[in-house]
Amino acid sequence: AAKRSRATGSVVRLGQTVIGGTGFAVIAGPCSVENPTQMTDTARAVRDSGAHALRGGIFKPRTSPYSFQGLGQAGLDLARAAKEETGLPFVTEVVDVRDVELLAESVDMLQIGARNMQNYALLREVGATRVPVLLKRGLAATVDETLLAAEYLLDGGNEQVVLCERGIRTFETSYRFTLDMAAVAVFRERTHLPVIVDPSHAAGERGRVIPLALAAAAGGADGIIVESHCDPAAALCDGKQALPTSDLPELMHRLRFAAAAA
Ligand code: PEP
Ligand code: MN
Repeated sequence: AAKRSRATGSVVRLGQTVIGGTGFAVIAGPCSVENPTQMTDTARAVRDSGAHALRGGIFKPRTSPYSFQGLGQAGLDLARAAKEETGLPFVTEVVDVRDVELLAESVDMLQIGARNMQNYALLREVGATRVPVLLKRGLAATVDETLLAAEYLLDGGNEQVVLCERGIRTFETSYRFTLDMAAVAVFRERTHLPVIVDPSHAAGERGRVIPLALAAAAGGADGIIVESHCDPAAALCDGKQALPTSDLPELMHRLRFAAAAA
């Protein structure tokens, strides 16, 4: 297939922002919605940095059942308040078919997490909505499997699909996941769908997040989704990889140059 030009890809609207096309979209926010102060402080800093959308987990798919599982409905109320105050569109993960209806009417983009990329019942349910979807590549999913998972959404009539490379399992253990930038290039060859990168879960530690984010921008991604927290030391989930919100202005500044080089 011919390499897609930026002009021929599809675009997905997220509030005032467009993912795909010529821009570079930044979705930032905490791994999880934790409490009113955390959400308000983080959301304000995300808005002030010039980022385009806010993320925050309400239902968390944790490796251990004893880890923080997210606030559920209470978290959704905090997210709604942050969205209303800042005007930023809100992205959150849906982990259960029983939550699709509630989240679809309350948030701007539904995230399907890496662990659920091949949960076909969930894909069908989200494919039946008309809410934009962020589909994360599974931790051991091939490019083909990821594209077929996206087909489940498209086949249901939901065409507002954004793919996300978030790192895969390899032999390497010195960081959390291997960010597969080659897959970003292949996604761009093989599909018209916008492709963004999650540098945070691959990095595992905050010092590596900006370099991976810049690689994504220079490597032709349509945006990033990055974990950021007003007080990373107090985070209930993924604090080690959270960029302090005070680092967001620098990230936004450096991304502009990297994306312009793509
Ligand atoms: C997340 O975005 O917080 C998350 C759990 O991501 P992933 O599904 O990629 O692990
Ligand atoms: Mn996380």
